[in-house]
Amino acid sequence: PEDKTIILDSIRDIPDFPKPGIVFKDITTLLSNATAFKTLMDHLTERYLGYELDYIAGIDARGFIFGSVLADRLGIGFVPVRKKGKLPYTTVAEKYSLEYGFDEVEIHIDAFGENGCCTTGEPSKVLLIDDLMATGGTAKAAVNLIDKVGAHCVEACFIMELAFLNGKEGFSAPVYSVLEIE
Ligand code: IMP
Repeated sequence: PEDKTIILDSIRDIPDFPKPGIVFKDITTLLSNATAFKTLMDHLTERYLGYELDYIAGIDARGFIFGSVLADRLGIGFVPVRKKGKLPYTTVAEKYSLEYGFDEVEIHIDAFGENGCCTTGEPSKVLLIDDLMATGGTAKAAVNLIDKVGAHCVEACFIMELAFLNGKEGFSAPVYSVLEIE
């Protein structure tokens, strides 16, 4: 959007969090800034109104905040992609590698309708959203989950992308980032 700087300026850098050498992008200051938050949500609403989406899927935990506001604005449902062990009903899981070891995300098997299809019998059209893409590992696992349950990921959307990490490479869905950090 024209006023991307309002959004960019509302996000602060926290050096050495959670580990020495990492500069953490803190979006809590975007959320608490009513003008910045509204500017962002207006931009996303305008972008996705024409997509005829069936669901928004948000990644644990900051993707829940942006995803649920957007879902409400578009008048569609919201689905949480959660870290392992949090969802109560039957789940489908996907492992992904971290720098050291593995992590796992899960989704309810019927989250996007039976076999991932909406009432017309077509695969549900899903927008995936998270606050930030770094290596892309988490989001790629989430796209795989959406595929696994039979739905279709139309796009993956991030408020911020650390473009120098090339997370977009090997993505099976189009990627849109509001802010790209070079
Ligand atoms: P990736 O899997 O390496 O792309 O890491 C992305 C995940 O880690 C997302 O769920 C982000 O919320 C989180 N993350 C990584 N770095 C940051 C950061 O600097 N600020 C906020 N979240 C981050």
